[in-house]
Amino acid sequence: MVKQTIQIFARVKPPVRKHQQGIYSIDQDEKLIPSLEIIVPRDLADGFVNNKRESYKFKFQGIFDQDANQEIIFEHIAKPVAESFLAGYNGTIFAYGQTGSGKTFTITGGAERYSDRGIIPRTLSYIFEQLQKDSSKIYTTHISYLEIYNECGHDLLDPRHEASSLEDLPKVTILEDPDQNIHLKNLSLHQATTEEEALNLLFLGDTNRMIAETPMNQASTRSHCIFTVHLSSKEPGSATVRHAKLHLVDLAGSERVAKTGVGGLLLTEAKYINLSLHYLEQVIIALSEKHRSHIPYRNSMMTSVLRDSLGGNCMTTMIATLSLEKRNLDESISTCRFAQRVALIKNEAVLNEEIDPRLVIKHLQKEIQELKDELAMVTGEPRTEALTEAELLQLEKLITSFLEDQDPESRLEVGADMRKIHHCFHHLKKLLNDKKILGNNTVSSESKDQDCQEPLKEEEYRKLQDILKQRDNEINILVNMLKKEKKKVQEALYLPAKGRHEFRHSQSPPFPLGNPEGGQRMLLSSAPSQAQDFSTLGYRSSLLHKKTGMREEMSLGRQEAFEIFKRDHADSVTIDDNKQILKQRFSEAKALGESINEARSKIGHLKEEIAQRHIQQVALGISENMAVPPTPDQQEEKLRSQLEEEKRRYKTMFTRLKALKVEIEHLQLLMDKAKVKLQKEFEVWWAEEATNLQVNSPAVNSLDHKKPFLQTSDTQSELSQLLSNKSDVNARKILPSPCRSPHSQKQSSISTPLEDSIPERPVLSIPLTGDSQTDSDILAFIKARQSILQKKCKCTSFGGSFRAAGHQHLWGAHSEVEGSREFPECC
Ligand code: ADP
Ligand code: MG
Repeated sequence: MVKQTIQIFARVKPPVRKHQQGIYSIDQDEKLIPSLEIIVPRDLADGFVNNKRESYKFKFQGIFDQDANQEIIFEHIAKPVAESFLAGYNGTIFAYGQTGSGKTFTITGGAERYSDRGIIPRTLSYIFEQLQKDSSKIYTTHISYLEIYNECGHDLLDPRHEASSLEDLPKVTILEDPDQNIHLKNLSLHQATTEEEALNLLFLGDTNRMIAETPMNQASTRSHCIFTVHLSSKEPGSATVRHAKLHLVDLAGSERVAKTGVGGLLLTEAKYINLSLHYLEQVIIALSEKHRSHIPYRNSMMTSVLRDSLGGNCMTTMIATLSLEKRNLDESISTCRFAQRVALIKNEAVLNEEIDPRLVIKHLQKEIQELKDELAMVTGEPRTEALTEAELLQLEKLITSFLEDQDPESRLEVGADMRKIHHCFHHLKKLLNDKKILGNNTVSSESKDQDCQEPLKEEEYRKLQDILKQRDNEINILVNMLKKEKKKVQEALYLPAKGRHEFRHSQSPPFPLGNPEGGQRMLLSSAPSQAQDFSTLGYRSSLLHKKTGMREEMSLGRQEAFEIFKRDHADSVTIDDNKQILKQRFSEAKALGESINEARSKIGHLKEEIAQRHIQQVALGISENMAVPPTPDQQEEKLRSQLEEEKRRYKTMFTRLKALKVEIEHLQLLMDKAKVKLQKEFEVWWAEEATNLQVNSPAVNSLDHKKPFLQTSDTQSELSQLLSNKSDVNARKILPSPCRSPHSQKQSSISTPLEDSIPERPVLSIPLTGDSQTDSDILAFIKARQSILQKKCKCTSFGGSFRAAGHQHLWGAHSEVEGSREFPECC
């Protein structure tokens, strides 16, 4: 058992703007416990902290300043937890802090760079690397990913890829058994045999989470996400299985209700926005107070799920994420105070070992079979259930001759076969009974003979009776054994079915009674369709296909709009960057692959050369009648050192290639995710625009769409006319997000090139009719826009029209389709 308080670490996020940085200092004296001092400027202290303290000091096991990268965080915080997890202890790492302080960045990682990958991908990588190295045990790894929003659990690993809101994801509920163990009903567990499969699952969960999120529920800031790795291990041949769970938790934003300014609430009195965080605090308070018998775990789903992590059988680590900008100082102080409380909680982690009854049965069955085989070998004949006719006849003959034999030393030899022994006794009994009946009739005539034979018979009977007793005992023992064996076989047949049944009702613990195979079967029964899916990259592309499948059904105009949206979207830079990096990595991997092949064939050649040299030397030795020199000659030495060198090179390149593979895989995941996000944002924006313009349609509806033109404040309505020709139109505008506020967009000067206005996110409004004719108009319209952009027209009113896009969001163009180019007069 390992007794340990919850370890607390602090991580300070780099400020968005340097000048907003708050004042703090970190004391990292090696001999002392590191401490963080937050200095609250006087003006702020006067404001909402009414006790007017200016400086707050907090102690942590480790404090990581802004420059600490993800690798350092993993090495110092996550690696020790992962190590004890591999040794069989439960582990939890949870990030706590206000929204935007870097929880997701720390736990999952940034979405842009490979180097930004967070604790989950790095821990998965580390775990699988270690498992691969250890061949002394058999390991089974499963993954689950749970999101809790508004006290409702959702399974993020739903493989159907159809969730468009959180409610579409399978609902996970909590069940508690009489022993107060928590079971999560409906949370699917997926086996992951490689790092790649585990990463795919993480990606699936994150994508489901992103897609299910709407601006309304702000799921990412108000929900808790628990990514869990379940590990079971056993030594070959042993029936003892070890289980461990590792929870990696991204909690909801810890921000509290706004303070009321001067004389307002004390920091400690402020209330959480998120109710379950309030309950988490209550649990922490209860645990940190001595002699508290009741801990209110059951108040919320999150505290129930993390029950073991808080004051139970788990090694837990908390990362307080801090955004130490001036406006966030109060929240940061709250986070630190929370951490200080958490640090008082003592956990007791134990190795979770159990005997697997199914493995025990398997062992016994194997042993019985071995004994049977041994027996068959000794007797020289294979065993069947019943004796054959011939055997029975043979036995009866033996009994008769035994009974007839007058030699007192004679024995009835039937061999070490209990069936035959039984049969002999039965037969003897029968004979005896028959003889008794007969004997009664002939008793007088044979009385003389009887007298002289009596002592012998009596002795014989006693002997036989003793043997009978002994045999009876043996038979009883054997019958019992047989019954037990039968029962076990029945149980073995019955248990898997029972296991399946139970799983349907409660999905936790992940490996029911510690059987890795059982766990797997359970998993398959709960999610039959995705079993092999995750092991292939095909899975990912299929997901993406599903998510972006709409594109194929898009009209040309909408596709074009999507292309523009994509191009102008902030993430497109990241996607392009990653594409470039990916290309580089691919070509590096290709080159490495070629070098590896070269090295391999070189190694082959060198080995061959050495072998040839050996043969030559042996041949030389034979021809010159000399012994082969015991040590290799200089030439061979050289070849050998070349071989070693080549092997080293091969190994280095191979390791690099492996790392590259992981990096490529990760980059692909990042890009796929970014693409899905883009698609989703486009759809949301498109729908919004359609609705908005429907509302504004009266102005648009009555207009003539044939005559395109540019929008100025004067020409706006004309443009609207030009762009619409139907009464029931749904209008839409192309507005790559984010859109600047019109107030900040004054008319540009005469010299402003049109090009300059592009980053200002030009706004375009076009009618949405849903029919292909209008869509082709839109296409023409967009093409015209592009050709204008290419011309780099320096037109004040034109440039202004981009910027004046405030209310109606209209932006004109001309139609090339109609062969005429109509520009405002100034052009
Ligand atoms: P939270 O999950 O706490 O709401 P995020 O992890 O989403 O916050 O972080 C908010 C933003 O800050 C993200 O854009 C993220 O990339 C960035 N960020 C957070 N922590 C760091 C860090 N240590 N270094 C660089 N960027 C960071
Ligand atoms: Mg977050």
